[in-house]
Amino acid sequence: MSARSVIRAVRHTIGTHPQSEITLTAHCLSGGCGWTLAATADLKAADLAMMTHTGRTGHPAFARTYEDVALVRRLELNEGQAGIPPLPTPH
Ligand SMILES: [Zn+2]
Repeated sequence: MSARSVIRAVRHTIGTHPQSEITLTAHCLSGGCGWTLAATADLKAADLAMMTHTGRTGHPAFARTYEDVALVRRLELNEGQAGIPPLPTPH
């Protein structure tokens, strides 16, 4: 007799963890500038900081990095469970 396994598709969903927030960091792409924006969850303030930098220097381009904690849930296994797992602590 051989071992058998049942493999079936399990539906998943992904989104930002409800206890997480999206943070943004940025740095100016004009050569030699070195201006950086420290991580912030205030996205409007981040936009304003970049526009202010452009207004003062004329530097128009920035690299932006958005970061959040993604939460993947197995829909079928979590049906009937209202609880959200706790936000993991960063390593
Ligand atoms: Zn700059």
